[in-house]
Amino acid sequence: METIVKKLDRNALKKEDFTEAVRILRSGGLVAFPTETVYGLGGNALDHKAATKIYAAKGRPSDNPLIVHIAEKEALRELAKDIPEVAWELAKRFWPGPLTMILKKSELVPDTTTGGLPTVAIRMPSDKIARMLIMESGLYLAAPSANASGRPSTTKASHVYEDLAGRIELILDGGESLIGLESTIIDLSEEKPVILRPGFLSREEMLSLLPGLEYDPALIAKTDGKDIVAKAPGMKYRHYAPKGNLVIYEGKKEAVIAAINRDIARRIEGGFSCAVLTTEESKADYSCPEIKSIGTRQREETIAASLFDALRSFDEGGIEYIFSESFSDGHLGMAIMNRLLKAAGYQVIHV
Ligand code: AMP
Ligand code: MG
Repeated sequence: METIVKKLDRNALKKEDFTEAVRILRSGGLVAFPTETVYGLGGNALDHKAATKIYAAKGRPSDNPLIVHIAEKEALRELAKDIPEVAWELAKRFWPGPLTMILKKSELVPDTTTGGLPTVAIRMPSDKIARMLIMESGLYLAAPSANASGRPSTTKASHVYEDLAGRIELILDGGESLIGLESTIIDLSEEKPVILRPGFLSREEMLSLLPGLEYDPALIAKTDGKDIVAKAPGMKYRHYAPKGNLVIYEGKKEAVIAAINRDIARRIEGGFSCAVLTTEESKADYSCPEIKSIGTRQREETIAASLFDALRSFDEGGIEYIFSESFSDGHLGMAIMNRLLKAAGYQVIHV
């Protein structure tokens, strides 16, 4: 199958821009599209055949459920049951936006979409293109991140093409994703609300509506979940990994820089290609042929926005060893570290 890339002008979107995408989606095909978090690989969420195609195109294990994307809050009534009042309050406050809610699923949602779980993940994206696509199609779109399973999520149409060309019909190119990290996932299907995946929307921002909100213990354990099983099936898989060996260095700034420089020197002496993943604050302190600054610690959102692109760029350069600084635990730092730890297969050196 040939994959077509259609470039859209965000500032002049027309109904006609979506004709082809809508035709493909309504006939059970797949279309990748931009959202404010990352690019999504969309298919009709209520068609189990379309859902099956999504797993196949990504090479995603079929027990790793898909998030259903909607354009209007009312859709909750159709997709979920026993909806707690707080879900409506959260929707009012944070939708459209980077929040995914897990609720008990209605009969309408096929088991394929939910990976066999009795619950369904639902999100209302704020991205204009995503919203228009959902509305024009008149469907609910199951849309996991539009990457090949295990690879970093995609924040540009070119990333999607790299991973999925020949496997999907169409990619809508709406430029770079604004946030660059996947949504915050909270589970509201049980008595106690739990954060299953940290994201741009922080626990603190939700506390006034959900005073008891805690993180899934598997997230904080900072291990590969050997002892504790993550409640979001997807969180247990190795993810985001570049082909090179990525190691994170944690400790005081000067000690981290010294340790990374020491280890780079050793690897370069051994004839290996190396890169450093760093920030504006310390990029001048390294001695390495490839120094990748992914933003400034003063504005962690800049780091979030370019993390996946950076991880992908190391593969293009055929880098064998990647040395990364670590990020703080607060707010976005936690979401960034969650992705980075997975990418590194939890290899952390404390200095
Ligand atoms: P992605 O769309 O690729 O960002 O992946 C969706 C994430 O949501 C994965 O980590 C899934 O395991 C998680 N997820 C989706 N549906 C559910 C559900 N019903 N219960 C728990 N986690 C879910
Ligand atoms: Mg994903």
